[in-house]
Amino acid sequence: MHRLQTQLEQGWEETITWTDPEGTVHHEKIFQASILSQLQAEIVEPRAMTSSENKNANKAGSRAPGNADALHLREECVAALKEARRVLQNATGLGTPSLGVQIGYLEKHGSRRADNDEDIAQLIKGILSDLSSKVRSARIILGYDMPKVALPDTPCDQCGGILVVAQDASSDVTCVGVEGMASCGKRYRRREWVSLLEKITSRISTEAACAYTGRSVPTLYRWAAEGRVHRQVDPRTGRSTWDASKLPQAVPGHPPPPAPALPTARTPADTAAEG
Ligand SMILES: [Zn+2]
Repeated sequence: MHRLQTQLEQGWEETITWTDPEGTVHHEKIFQASILSQLQAEIVEPRAMTSSENKNANKAGSRAPGNADALHLREECVAALKEARRVLQNATGLGTPSLGVQIGYLEKHGSRRADNDEDIAQLIKGILSDLSSKVRSARIILGYDMPKVALPDTPCDQCGGILVVAQDASSDVTCVGVEGMASCGKRYRRREWVSLLEKITSRISTEAACAYTGRSVPTLYRWAAEGRVHRQVDPRTGRSTWDASKLPQAVPGHPPPPAPALPTARTPADTAAEG
């Protein structure tokens, strides 16, 4: 109970598991803000938009999808906590807002009402299952339970640490620090992190491009072959890079974004070459 309430209201230490480009799995304990505040951040209209997004942001649809889910769930979490407090305070007569303390008291001393032990057990069980289902839903919306990968060549701009993100781009980008040094705790909201990438370089790695678009490596290469996006090979490293501002952005909880448009009308030179 204590754990559930802490996650919802106070924040907690989460072990982030992520895979580096060599395939090695790492575990890093990182403090997370409360689920309520993370959902709140999810609801707030994104500030930064890339130029390509701006074009698509028409008046009616400019509110990012996914926000409604977070808003709804946040309201449900607040209501569930309030109801749990009301029921428990009523049963114990204690004023403390700590659900863990309330339940501990109830288990030890019983209810001040005439409830029998079985009723009390049922009451506690109901509250626990309600809150834990809320926490589970929140973790899905917030992208916690997705495998995480490192973004190569894109260090944290605060401490130079390694940044990790869910494979399908459904999470925030989290700094996990560097070998032997703890994370600086920096988090990039997932709608902001492309601006971070653009600040460092407008061209991003294939892994970052996959995370950003939610699409696979073969799909990106196919798009490049079809002329939908431009792939460049860094002569220094031999690795492919992608122009972040030209890529469609994945929206968590929604199907992957459509492919960028095919290149428009062919130039006279193309036609001449064919004829
Ligand atoms: Zn950092």
